[in-house]
Amino acid sequence: MLDLTEVILNDGKVIHREVTLELTSLKYRFGDFQIQKATPVELTIENIGERKLSVNGKVHLTVCIPCARCLEPTASGLDIQFENELDVNDEDYIEGYSLNVDQLVHDEALLVWPERVLCRKDCKGLCSTCGQNLNHGSCSCRPTDLDPRMAKILDIFSQAGNGKG
Ligand SMILES: [Zn+2]
Ligand SMILES: [Zn+2]
Repeated sequence: MLDLTEVILNDGKVIHREVTLELTSLKYRFGDFQIQKATPVELTIENIGERKLSVNGKVHLTVCIPCARCLEPTASGLDIQFENELDVNDEDYIEGYSLNVDQLVHDEALLVWPERVLCRKDCKGLCSTCGQNLNHGSCSCRPTDLDPRMAKILDIFSQAGNGKG
């Protein structure tokens, strides 16, 4: 929580702050995603009058997201930059005279969430029969490693199944 008393009480007041994120994971869709690393959140907050604040911020997060093909946890960088106008009574982000930086960064992170993450470009995925991770070796269901072109086709099927491109 960042104390905003001086900026809320003074029209035209601008403050710059670096805030350490306390957030350790992001809740998105079906899961909890661990934040492995976060730069300090760089914030510029200005009282623009009529009880409104302009809140600009920047932070880089490294989040652990499962690979779209093999589900292996994969470190993914999220570059977050935002420019928001908040009412001083905004219940989502302002509590009393403090800014809930964690909540703000959490919600902004979801806006730049990667469409799909691959542990590596040529990830072979999981065997659809036995569930073996084919990056770690082929299973007895298939005589040879999966052809990369085939992997792409399987990927398209699994994407269609998710109902989200
Ligand atoms: Zn993978
Ligand atoms: Zn198999």
